[in-house]
Amino acid sequence: RRKKIVQECERLMDTPENIRNIAIAAHVDHGKTTLSDNLLAGAGMISEGTAGEQLAMDTKEDEQERGITIDAANVSMTHEYEDTNHLINLIDTPGHVDFGGDVTRAMRAVDGALVVVDAVEGAMPQTETVLRQALREGVKPTLFINKVDRLISELQEGEEEMQERLLGVIADVNELIRGMIEEMDDINDDWTVSVEDGTVGFGSALYKWGVSMPSMQRTGISFEDIIELERNDKRDELHERSPLSDVVLDMVCEHFPNPVDAQPRRVPRIWRGDAESELAEDMRLVNEDGDVVFMVTDISMDPHAGEIATGRVFSGTLEKGQDLYVSGTAGKNRIQSVGLFMGSEREEVERVPAGNIASVTGLRDAIAGSTVSSVEMTPFESIEHISEPVITKSVEAQTMDDLPKLIETLQQVAKEDPTIQIEINEDTGEHLISGQGELHLEVITQRIEKEQGIPVNTGEPIVVYREQPQEESREVEGVSPNRHNKFYISIHPMGQEIVEAIQRGEVSMDMPELERREALQDAGMDKDTSQNVETIHGTNILIDDTKGIQHLNETMELVVEGLSEALDDGPLAAEPVQGTLLRLHDARLHEDTIHRGPAQVIPAVREAVHHALIDGEIRLLEPIQDVRIDVPSEHMGAASGEIQGRRGRVDDMYQEGGLMVVEGVAPVEEMIGFSSDIRSATEGRASWNTENAGFRVMADNLQREKIMEIRERKGMKLELPESIDYL
Ligand code: GDP
Repeated sequence: RRKKIVQECERLMDTPENIRNIAIAAHVDHGKTTLSDNLLAGAGMISEGTAGEQLAMDTKEDEQERGITIDAANVSMTHEYEDTNHLINLIDTPGHVDFGGDVTRAMRAVDGALVVVDAVEGAMPQTETVLRQALREGVKPTLFINKVDRLISELQEGEEEMQERLLGVIADVNELIRGMIEEMDDINDDWTVSVEDGTVGFGSALYKWGVSMPSMQRTGISFEDIIELERNDKRDELHERSPLSDVVLDMVCEHFPNPVDAQPRRVPRIWRGDAESELAEDMRLVNEDGDVVFMVTDISMDPHAGEIATGRVFSGTLEKGQDLYVSGTAGKNRIQSVGLFMGSEREEVERVPAGNIASVTGLRDAIAGSTVSSVEMTPFESIEHISEPVITKSVEAQTMDDLPKLIETLQQVAKEDPTIQIEINEDTGEHLISGQGELHLEVITQRIEKEQGIPVNTGEPIVVYREQPQEESREVEGVSPNRHNKFYISIHPMGQEIVEAIQRGEVSMDMPELERREALQDAGMDKDTSQNVETIHGTNILIDDTKGIQHLNETMELVVEGLSEALDDGPLAAEPVQGTLLRLHDARLHEDTIHRGPAQVIPAVREAVHHALIDGEIRLLEPIQDVRIDVPSEHMGAASGEIQGRRGRVDDMYQEGGLMVVEGVAPVEEMIGFSSDIRSATEGRASWNTENAGFRVMADNLQREKIMEIRERKGMKLELPESIDYL
């Protein structure tokens, strides 16, 4: 049977009109995995009886144990719709926000996103996040409202109440979509969802039934029937009459664009190469005879096949033996095999043409995000990461013999998950992993220990802080050690809109200058300033306001170097500086190159930047998280106490579906260990979620203490420069 499906997929690969590349995205626990299993069962990939229990998409051992999906796993299946067989390539995405980077990458490979929302909980913070990630990549959404069985049997809702609730969920989701579309100028279609259009489905992934307006019209099933069958425990009959997988896959075929429709819109969004070139035309037309263009969205390790690169073929046809360029590297890699993913297993095939998702071995230099092509080309835009790492942990092999294997594994981890940052220290053997949260790092350490069998010692998790000036500084002078070079710099904190535009990748040094100017002006920068951008470092911008200074051009590289050093290690605690605009007003440079080398220019600039930052009353910022706890009412006090006791703030408490919801915000540092504390405080009856919510200036009375604590940990001097008298 499996073999038959593979053959059918291979046959369908050449007709892009009948292909749909899709992702399922949801807030954690809303039922994405259960729904995916329904689709696999419907397509004959796993047996009906075990769908929902088998969790076929959660292939890694730790995912099964935790019951959450971590890696974006992929699967191809076929579905007959309107007498035509369709090839559906499904990419699974992680639901936990700690792994947000994976979601964005998955979105790059697909054209449609099925957003799953729990009928009882409604749209949640991560629903918003995944929607934004989809729309930003030009991916069209549809909606499936899950767990409708709970409205009927648990909440005992009647027909009217239930319809009202469903319409409420749809309205909320549409409000999110509308707001996001307004921010974008290249999506002109109405991408809101509606029951009448058939872009909304609802049902129960657990009991395997689903409906949509078209399916109700076709099968004659009514709301009344659904309520009656659910109430009387006749769910099997409901499933027989309106199987979930058919309803959802019909929706996918009908409403998601095929690659031929999608690529002309998506390519300009994610690729800034010459729009008039033949290559651009090949990508727009999904030309399987064109030059090969393959975008890698995921790298995974297979114990037998080695490193597997998964991604979207935008043009040409991938075949074994091809020598392909890998963006960002010098040489070419030879393809060893090409294949499709069928659940957790990979099936080798002869070739994979444009418009499909492929899995390739042999691309040893590729990382998630690489552009792989048969001709040298402008790579795809880098995949943006919305959240930066906020927490770091050290790992050390218990025995020296394991050191090389540990380093190799860490490098592998960094390749697979670009939201992880790795610092390798071969001298001390103590390496640092930085990621999105405590759980994120825990999962990685477990993989090193369990999958690779390397026993490691790990340090306490350390939170990453930021430094940011609060005011505009005066113009400050920096002098080189030989006193022959001088730099005059001032700084001021930048508006949040510009910072976010940089974080989202909407403003970068890689983009054409005119476009960058426009984007900066859109984010609120004045025209003159936007024309003088010299460099962007992190979320900081250097403006060159000088005019006609001799030798400055040749010296600029060193100026930028000095600036980078000053910003990477801020003056308070050597934490990264964020959201600062720096202006270079003037400079004096020695005539002779020898006297304005790195040893002179770098320290002079570093000093000027640090002095200016201090003059701008720089302060320490800490990362914070939004926290949501769902808990029975008798434990509500304990739950809100867990937030308040962590220097947190409770913003809202309300009842929802028989439980109380507590919403608040707390510093990441204080959230370490939350998992076990909340469990014991509520007898394990609470479920909870966090989402990184950026950085916040620490309270003034905590500044000095925290700064000293960090300085001590880093082995820095335990006194601050005298000019820092405002703390
Ligand atoms: P994911 O985190 O989004 O992948 O969610 P899962 O598919 O793992 O589901 C989370 C929990 O909700 C599991 O305990 C499921 O059994 C349960 N669940 C999923 N779909 C339904 C549904 O339609 N009805 C009910 N009552 N429970 C469901």
